[in-house]
Amino acid sequence: MNNKLYGHLIFELSKPGRKGYSLPPSQMGGCSLPESMRRAEDAQLPECDEMTVVRHYTNHSANNFGVNNGFYPLGSCTMKYNPVINEETAAMAGFSGLHPLQPAETCQGALEVYYKLQQSLSAITGLSEFTLNPFAGAHGELTGLMVIRAYHQSRGDDKRVKVIVPDTAHGTNPASAAVCGLEVVEVKSNADGSVDVENLKELLDDGVAAMMMTNPNTLGMFERDIPEIAQLVHECGGLMYYDGANLNPLLGACRPGDMGFDVMHINLHKTFSTPHGGGGPGSGPVGVRKGLEHLLPRPHVTYDGKTYGIETDGEAINVGEFLGNFAVIVRAYTYILSLGKENLRMVGPLATLNANYIKESLKDLYLLPISGLCKHEFVFDGLKDKSTGVTTMDVAKRLLDYGYHAPTIYFPLLFHESLMIEPTESESLDTIDGFISVMRRIAEEAATDPELVKSAPHNTPIGRVDDVLAAKHPVLTYRQLKSEN
Ligand SMILES: *Cc1c(COP(=O)(O)O)cnc(C)c1O
Repeated sequence: MNNKLYGHLIFELSKPGRKGYSLPPSQMGGCSLPESMRRAEDAQLPECDEMTVVRHYTNHSANNFGVNNGFYPLGSCTMKYNPVINEETAAMAGFSGLHPLQPAETCQGALEVYYKLQQSLSAITGLSEFTLNPFAGAHGELTGLMVIRAYHQSRGDDKRVKVIVPDTAHGTNPASAAVCGLEVVEVKSNADGSVDVENLKELLDDGVAAMMMTNPNTLGMFERDIPEIAQLVHECGGLMYYDGANLNPLLGACRPGDMGFDVMHINLHKTFSTPHGGGGPGSGPVGVRKGLEHLLPRPHVTYDGKTYGIETDGEAINVGEFLGNFAVIVRAYTYILSLGKENLRMVGPLATLNANYIKESLKDLYLLPISGLCKHEFVFDGLKDKSTGVTTMDVAKRLLDYGYHAPTIYFPLLFHESLMIEPTESESLDTIDGFISVMRRIAEEAATDPELVKSAPHNTPIGRVDDVLAAKHPVLTYRQLKSEN
């Protein structure tokens, strides 16, 4: 590894007086700022030639790892291939040049895409109507819970403030309920991570606003008791919320609307491609069953058979001033159209096949706490041989040496050494076989040379960081020494 390329900040490459620009003299004449607004000293900016700047940033950009660089089996995140055609359509001038305050009659094409995606999501999930306004899965959860609260309030049922959340749920579930001002009640799980129906029965009363469920759950297992759970929750007057972040394996197999869910969100940036990671961009459409449509947030895109309109309503829920993350919406709609109905049906089964193939190929070396068929992802509880002292963290770091993104680690919390693998449907058999052979090799290294794995990564620009320190006390600014000049 060439340390010269990685070891420096742009400030450290600076040489007094060096320039990377040349501006023509101003033709507008001078303009002087009032003394009170001027700096006492020059700002300490790096002074570099253009080539140094270009190389500095280009080399840094090459350190990024993404789906386009290599296998990215990050459980719970559905890091699937993002087709290039998505980018082409999202960049079309008619889409990328829109202004959010444009009148509806000047952007009929964009509204058509918006409306048709709403309809596609309804067809895929079996729910009546969608809003595409929320900006992420978590934002969708909040929106969905606001809809549920509005539903109870519209019936004068003000005492319903409890949201039942499984103890295996994604952390955003209880967080969204709390942000919505609702009370979180935890329901226990069985050993396979599914909801404990007997425990649920004890929690149900006329204070329950909703029950949140993820299916397949965060362990990648299909929740078999949903019909019974939905009946119990409905009988006590609550609504069923479906966290659709794990919708990918259900594509082509079943629909949340048919299972008894009333409200759900979808992560377009997971199930329907569109690049994500590093904090954005996302989109978390929310769908509702028949009878709840009027409670969806406004603005809302409508169609009267001839023209598309934007409906606003000052009384309605509002989760964003405009119509959401439009470029993500275009990408997701492109993805749906380019796959078509038949191929979309293959997504779930293929993602499920890939996950089960990896699981079965590695379970002799990695501890599989829950056996049987999984859906799109599964969890190992670290290496089977615990005598080596090699942890899940060590395995994840060693994978980086071999050019793979690490799986999700230490989530879900049900096991001590969780290693959660989600290959998605995008990957070829060769890629998956390559990953399996590297995972087997790491298990062998753990047995024969554990230090090698414990001190990994060895081939990355930066070795093992103190992740607690990096998370709690990140050094994000550069304190420059007083320059000599
Ligand atoms: C990703 C995820 C979320 C949150 O979605 P964001 O778009 O990251 O806010 C919620 N629930 C589950 C199960 C998830 O995997």
